Amino acid sequence: MILRSGFISLVQKRLCEFFDESIGSGTPSLDIHRRNLKRLEGRWRNIQSSTTCLCCLRRRPQYGLTCGHIVCENCVKIFGECSVNDPWIYKVRSCFVCGVETHEEVVIKIHPPTAGVGVLCIDGGGTRGVLPLKFLQRIQDRIGLRIPPQKFFKVVFGTSSGRFSRHVLKGLLMWAGSWSSAGLFIEGWSVNKSLEKAEDMAKVAFRRQKRLRIPIISGIVEFCISYICDGLYPAAHIEAALKEAFKNRRILDYSYATSIGTRVGLLVATIRDPLICVFTNYNGVGTRDPGQGEHFQILLRLVNLMNKAYHVVQPSDEYGNVSLWEM
Ligand SMILES: [Zn+2]
Ligand SMILES: [Zn+2]
Repeated sequence: MILRSGFISLVQKRLCEFFDESIGSGTPSLDIHRRNLKRLEGRWRNIQSSTTCLCCLRRRPQYGLTCGHIVCENCVKIFGECSVNDPWIYKVRSCFVCGVETHEEVVIKIHPPTAGVGVLCIDGGGTRGVLPLKFLQRIQDRIGLRIPPQKFFKVVFGTSSGRFSRHVLKGLLMWAGSWSSAGLFIEGWSVNKSLEKAEDMAKVAFRRQKRLRIPIISGIVEFCISYICDGLYPAAHIEAALKEAFKNRRILDYSYATSIGTRVGLLVATIRDPLICVFTNYNGVGTRDPGQGEHFQILLRLVNLMNKAYHVVQPSDEYGNVSLWEM
């Protein structure tokens, strides 16, 4: 048992000690904080959050590490190892919170505050979604430099268009535009590889159900099935193709986009009660009015067209980090 006043004075005493240490012996507050985190290293492993960065207990976390902890941009700047070649690239060798080493080298690029922002918006349209990829390939060839075109864009939104089935993906739609954005930026595929993958995926996803080979009757049967199921192509095929493409990768996991400092948003829409939802790799959240959010002019135009507010979704799995295929 401890009284509230007793607890407060304990906290106060502790903070005074840290302050004295910092001022008296000149220990940087960074070292004191690191030592405190290390002292409770074992306990942190059982606590995870996708709403608060556990390293600073203040900010919204953005970068998922292999241990499952998600840390904020500010903590990356403070605790990460700054690259000697580029002051905006940070390397993370172990989790700041629990101390577990990262399996692969985690490179995080922070967007410099004075740099401009290139925006890429990839339209959807079922299999026609390969057209934006072809455009990108053309641009890449015309530029003629050995730089992946992804590196020119800092904000990427993949939109979806074309209606599938209300049963597909539990009422959420995600197709070509979102798929291309996820492939190019989250998986880090080259434009050529994305084109190949798009073709492979279309072959699997657009496979029709087995049909009878009786003239007229098979047509009528197919029409009835598509009317009842609200689609010609079974959801299982599309799900299988998405699982094959994205494996278990989740939206907040460390990805190619993290290493080049690109923020990716994937638009989906619910059918039953029409609402535009955005999943992001920077852990955005909340509902935006059509009249607000000047920073996303392109998105805003889309939203205004439909005269609807849009909702930035925080995935609701146990740690708020949902798989790409499922999205
Ligand atoms: Zn933090
Ligand atoms: Zn950790």
